Amino acid sequence: MSESLTFSQLDLPEPILRAVTELGYETPSPIQAAAIPKLLAGEDLLGQAQTGTGKTAAFALPLLARLDPAQNEPQILVLAPTRELAIQVAEAFQAYARFMPTFHVLPLYGGQNYTTQLRSLKRGSQVIVGTPGRIMDHLDRGTLVLDKLRAIVLDEADEMLRMGFIDDVQTIMDATPPGRQVAMFSATMPSQIRAIAQKHLNNAQEIKIESKTSTVERITQRYVMLDGNQKLDALTRVLEGEEYDASIIFVRTKSATEEIAEKLGARGYAVACLNGDMNQANREQTIRRLKASQIDVIVATDVAARGLDVERISLVINYDIPYDSEAYVHRIGRTGRAGREGKAILFVSPRERRLLRTIEHATRQPIEKMSLPTGEVIEQRRIESFRETLANTIEAKNLSFFQDLINDWREKLETTDADLAAALLFMAQKDQPLNVASQFPEIREPHARGERPERGDRPARFERGDRPERSGDRPERGPRPPRRELQGNYINYRIEVGKEHGVRAGDIVGAIANEANIDSQFIGNIKLFDHFSTVELPGDMPTEVFQHLKKVYVRKQKLNISVDTGGPGPERADRPERYQRSGADRADRPERGTGPRPGAAPKKPRTREGS
Ligand code: AMP
Repeated sequence: MSESLTFSQLDLPEPILRAVTELGYETPSPIQAAAIPKLLAGEDLLGQAQTGTGKTAAFALPLLARLDPAQNEPQILVLAPTRELAIQVAEAFQAYARFMPTFHVLPLYGGQNYTTQLRSLKRGSQVIVGTPGRIMDHLDRGTLVLDKLRAIVLDEADEMLRMGFIDDVQTIMDATPPGRQVAMFSATMPSQIRAIAQKHLNNAQEIKIESKTSTVERITQRYVMLDGNQKLDALTRVLEGEEYDASIIFVRTKSATEEIAEKLGARGYAVACLNGDMNQANREQTIRRLKASQIDVIVATDVAARGLDVERISLVINYDIPYDSEAYVHRIGRTGRAGREGKAILFVSPRERRLLRTIEHATRQPIEKMSLPTGEVIEQRRIESFRETLANTIEAKNLSFFQDLINDWREKLETTDADLAAALLFMAQKDQPLNVASQFPEIREPHARGERPERGDRPARFERGDRPERSGDRPERGPRPPRRELQGNYINYRIEVGKEHGVRAGDIVGAIANEANIDSQFIGNIKLFDHFSTVELPGDMPTEVFQHLKKVYVRKQKLNISVDTGGPGPERADRPERYQRSGADRADRPERGTGPRPGAAPKKPRTREGS
C-alpha cells in the first residue's frame, strides 16, 4: 500500500479529484501512485499490472487531466481485448469525468450496430475505447479519424496478443500521429509485448509492483469464485455458515464500508464501519466496542484498519480483492493475533483470477477454493443456535410466571404442550426463520462469459494451433493441465461454409461463440472441407439457438447448420483440414472462468446485428 500518498497530492485537476472522492476512493493503489505522476508529466509508460490492481484509474485519471475539453475529436484511444472490458473502461472514464461538463466517451466493439456507432462518432467524443477489430473497421471506412489523438492506451496487451489482435494493434498504432503519448498495460511481459513497447514507446518508464514474499502462519486461507453481484449474498452466507468470534470485512471504498455495514445491520448483525473519514475518537470508540463484544463485525478499508490489533477477530473476509499481495498480508494479519488461529476468505471474480495466483505465489501458501454454505448448512446452524439459546434460558431464567401461563393456556385452548411449544417456536423464529434450506438457492460459480474476445465482424487473426501464447513466454501459468477430452453429449454439426469461401477455424469459433453464446472453449474440433465444414458442439443445444445459428453468415455464407449425418457426399473425398481443439488447449486459457459444464446447454442467443 502507498502509506502516505493521497489523491490530493497527485496534482489532479479539481473536477477529477472531486469525482474520485465521490466514488469513495481513499488512497491511490500502488499502481496508481506509480503511474499517475508519470502519465501526468506526459511520459510513455509500460506498466505490468493485472485486473484488480486499479490499473484503469491509473491511466484514465492522468490522461483525462491532460485532455482539452474544448476539442471534440478523439484525443484518447484505449484498445481493449474484449467488448466487456471496453465497456467497463468506458464506464470508468465516464465516472471519473462526471464533473467535466463537455466530456464524451464512446465504446466501439464488434457485434454492435454500425448505424448507432456512426451516429455517436459524428456527435464527437474525446475518448474512444474499442476492441481492435472494430477500431480497424472504422479506420478503414474513414469514420474514425485519429489526427488529433494525444494518447493511446493498450490495455491488457498480452490478452490482445493471445487473441490474435496484435497485427491490428500494430496497424492502429501506426495510424496514430507521431508524438502521441503511449501507455501500455499488460499482466505479463512476453517478448512480443516487449518488442511492441520498444518499437512504439518513447523512452518509456516501466513500472511493476513487486510482490514481496511474506508468509502468514496459523491462518487458514480460502477463496470463493463469484461475480460481483453475488458478493452480498455470499457475504451473508459466510457470516451465517462460518464459526467466528468477531469478523472484519475489507472493501475498497469508504462508500462500500457504509453501504455494507448498513445492509448487515438491517439483517441483525452488530456491525460498524471503519474508514478514513472517521476521526480518531470515533475510530477508537469503534475499536473499544469491538473489543467489548458490543460489535461483532467491522467493515473497513485497508487504510482505516492498518495496525488493528483485536484478539477476537477470527475471520477476515476480503470482500473486494486487495490491490496486491502486500495489502493481502496486512489484511489477513488482522486475525491470528496473540497466537490464536484465524481464517481468511477471499472473494474473487473470474477476471481477478490472475491476481489470486499472484497473491498465492507471494505468500507461498495455497489459498484453497471453498464453496459457500448451502441452505441446509445455514438451516442447521440456525436450529442449533436456537436450541442453545433455549437451553441457556431454561437453565438460567426463572420461568415460573410463564409456566403458569402455559398451564392455563393448555386448559383453555384444549391443546397439548407440544402444540403450544410448536406455536410459540413458530412465533419466536419469525425474525430469523428456521425452516430456510430451500430459500438459499445454490450460488453457482460464474462461468466464463464475459471473457470472450471480440470476434464480432472481423475474424480472429490466428489459426487454431498457432496461437501466439504457445511460442514460449508463458509466465505464471503453472504446469499444463492434463489433456481433457470433450465430455458430455457433443455431436458433429455441419455448416455450409468451407475452404473455398476462405473460411478459417477462428472465423467459425468466433461466429458460433458470439451468436450462440457458447464459450469458445466448449466448441469442439472443426474440420474444414472444400464446400462445407463440421464442428463439434453440445448436443443439447436449445432449438432456438440452433435455428438462430442457421441464419448466421460467415464469410458471406449462411451457415445453415444441420446435424452432420456423416454421409459421404462428394466433397467428403477431400482430406479435411482438421483443427484439433484439444481439452488441454482449451483448458489453459487464462482468466476465462471455468465455463459452463461441458455438455451444458448453451444460453439463448443474444440479438446482434451483422455477423
Ligand atoms: P481495475 O484493476 O482497474 O479493474 O479496478 C478494480 C476496481 O477497483 C474497480 O472497481 C475500481 O473502481 C476500484 N478502484 C480503483 N482504484 C481505486 C482506489 N484508489 N480506491 C478504491 N477503489 C479503487
